[in-house]
Amino acid sequence: MRVVALAGGTGSAKLLRGLYRTETDLTVVANVGDNIWMYGVYVCPDIDIACYTLAGVSDRARGWGIAGDSFEALGSLRKLGEAAWFMLGDRDLATSLRRTDMIRSGASLTEVTNGLRKALGLKCSILPVTDDPVSTMIATPGGDLHLQEFWVREKGLPRVVRVWYRGARSARVTPEVEASIEGADRVVVCPANPISSIGPMLAVPGFTKLLTKSNARVVALSPMEGSHPFSGPAGKLLKAGGVRQDSVGVAELYSRFLDAIVISSRDAAMSTKIEALGVNCTLSDTLMSEPDDELRLAKELLEV
Ligand code: GDP
Repeated sequence: MRVVALAGGTGSAKLLRGLYRTETDLTVVANVGDNIWMYGVYVCPDIDIACYTLAGVSDRARGWGIAGDSFEALGSLRKLGEAAWFMLGDRDLATSLRRTDMIRSGASLTEVTNGLRKALGLKCSILPVTDDPVSTMIATPGGDLHLQEFWVREKGLPRVVRVWYRGARSARVTPEVEASIEGADRVVVCPANPISSIGPMLAVPGFTKLLTKSNARVVALSPMEGSHPFSGPAGKLLKAGGVRQDSVGVAELYSRFLDAIVISSRDAAMSTKIEALGVNCTLSDTLMSEPDDELRLAKELLEV
């Protein structure tokens, strides 16, 4: 089975690890909206967490970066007067240094990511949704913030007026992503922030149409339980977008292309509303605290 997984950060990485253990031909399409220039290098958090997780070198407890990494460079940067609010370990920094060097030499983000994937010995494809720069921007009463400035530097505290995607309108879906979706048997929307991780993909012209036109069954694992996400600012950002802060809201947001969604058993009461959208709804234990949960949910998503 040819599976394309649309992935954001931490929640997605857990499901990707489950999907990687199944007998499928897996392609990961990664969010680029939280990519950011930081300390002179181009950081791509969602691409990197997918690569590190599948290679078995990620820091599982933290949800980002490489296990056992040191932070010497960041410490030195601080001594030199840099605020250094964005955490980047030394080995993680090496990934971004190499990426920046290759991009400056004319390589595309797709090519650079493929190089990283190969260096880590991964057997699946990992593709940025676009090679063009797209940034998730949070409009606040004090002005626009990049998602990382909003969530990491300002700890998600400012009031969110709206979310927009800088650069998305002129971005193009890569031919590699187009071909992967056209050839897929199944598209899995991983548990990711619907607004700041899946939103930037849907904002790239032509991407939503690719999903709606695809012959693949499109299925999702909800990142919400009740009115809260398992982690991160999804609730706050859904509210700012005028979307219900629960699995019904997520299903509504994806309803144009979604065939089925797996939601928490605790949210059984929501299934009628979801089915009314024309989306098949399955109940499960959707928390992935152990590798067994990741594999179980991956298998469920290949069957629903
Ligand atoms: P974030 O909102 O900035 O963290 O962006 P991400 O795209 O990395 O979002 C991670 C999403 O994964 C969040 O909305 C979480 O609710 C979700 N998530 C994290 N852990 C789990 C889990 O164990 N199960 C499920 N279903 N979702 C999860």
